[in-house]
Amino acid sequence: MDYFPAFLDLKDRACLIVGGGPVALRKARLLNSAGARLTIVAPETCTDLRDFALQNGHTIVQRRYRPSDTKGRWLVISATGDADVEQAVFRDASDAGVFCNSVDDIENCSYITPAIVDRSPVVVAISSGGAAPVLARKLRAEIETLLPAGISALASLARDWRDRVGMRIGDLLGRRRFWESVFDGPAASHALVGERQKAEAIMCELLESSAAEQKGEAWLVGAGPGDPGLLTIRALQTMQTADVILHDRLVSAEILELARRDADLISVGKTPGCPMNSQQEINDRLVSLVKSGRRVCRLKGGDPFIFGRGGEEAEALDAAGLDYQVVPGITAAAGCAAYAGIPLTHRDLSQSVAFVTAHGRDSIDKLDWVSLARDKQTLAFYMAVKRFPDLMNNLTSNGRSVDTPIAIIEKGTTAAQRVIRGTLGQLTLLAEAHRVAAPAMLIVGEVAALGHAGQTTLAESPQITENHTKPEFRIAKKG
Ligand code: SAH
Repeated sequence: MDYFPAFLDLKDRACLIVGGGPVALRKARLLNSAGARLTIVAPETCTDLRDFALQNGHTIVQRRYRPSDTKGRWLVISATGDADVEQAVFRDASDAGVFCNSVDDIENCSYITPAIVDRSPVVVAISSGGAAPVLARKLRAEIETLLPAGISALASLARDWRDRVGMRIGDLLGRRRFWESVFDGPAASHALVGERQKAEAIMCELLESSAAEQKGEAWLVGAGPGDPGLLTIRALQTMQTADVILHDRLVSAEILELARRDADLISVGKTPGCPMNSQQEINDRLVSLVKSGRRVCRLKGGDPFIFGRGGEEAEALDAAGLDYQVVPGITAAAGCAAYAGIPLTHRDLSQSVAFVTAHGRDSIDKLDWVSLARDKQTLAFYMAVKRFPDLMNNLTSNGRSVDTPIAIIEKGTTAAQRVIRGTLGQLTLLAEAHRVAAPAMLIVGEVAALGHAGQTTLAESPQITENHTKPEFRIAKKG
């Protein structure tokens, strides 16, 4: 950030404008609307500026600018269009420790003015840091159309109620919730169309009920496999509403960036050998946070109910008599396959797809290998990296051909995605040769040979291939 944004309280503070033309007048109007006390210095001033100064009690000094003019000011604007004067004003202001803006002369500025949308008390300021003022103005025009005209009335109502709400609801969390119910509900709709009395009646009721109870909530939310673009709108909404985000270790920093700024982010990633983060610990923590009245987003990789132990967390909430909602996410199999260009089903090649976990020797032994080894179906293995030799043996010894295409997708949908292709018979060799590490998905089935534009295909060469590609949906591109 090149410039620090701030809103200044200039009420009754001495500010200087150097210049006497229409630009100076425009700036004088702006500063006047913020309550500043102005001195305008120029050898000549236009009639409108003189009238404006007279009507609003500002001082005009009709002479050339002098270095001492900047002393004792809070803010200086130079609008002379004369480069020498502007340079002098800027230098003198800087020496006096006063912020100075020279209109359209970024070299001689210690602050820049944003494009603004003024719906006081709501003011939106937009800046491109001087890089593209026209773009900033275009954005302002777009924001103008987005902000309802009544936003001003709504914000004024909120300002008038602030103290009352503060006295009635003691804690910050409760107050925040009260205001969210106001702004998201019928009170705001009435205020926006000027029906203040109706809005206030609803706010009275809300205030009483908010003061009476403070209820926690939980969302079990899927964050998708990595790319923040794969979050659902609902997932994003819960991340921006929650007071606390309990997240898995696999949830990327880019996704966590999208959380509400003041939310507590707590990693409950299960790290091997760390007893603090056992599933029981996570369940207990979730339950106790919700009981204490917090709104908790339990953010999990992929989908919360696919190998995510979301079911156990839901049961824990149920057992504690707490409400929760489940927000599904894009599961790793779907996300990784899509970004590798592999359709999980295909009319000619695969009529079904199985999501299989290969975590732990026990679960491997319990799987129905005879049925998994049948042709014309796709297998998507989760948590399989350490079990590749077992998977390969079980599938081939039950009849799946060693020539069945496979794809290993490591860190799928992220910038570090790797797609490694080959045949089932080469699985362990491939994984070792490429040092495959978790998180990785293994896709087994005829479809794994698809989506391979411009790369070695199995038909051309049965050898190991690997591509480090920027994730993209390549089937679509092939046309
Ligand atoms: N609930 C998650 C799965 C959790 S199990 C979901 O629905 O996707 C964790 C396993 O998911 C990892 O061992 C890996 O097999 C797979 N996985 C998760 N994210 C992945 C990614 N970005 N790339 C490849 N595999 C991933």
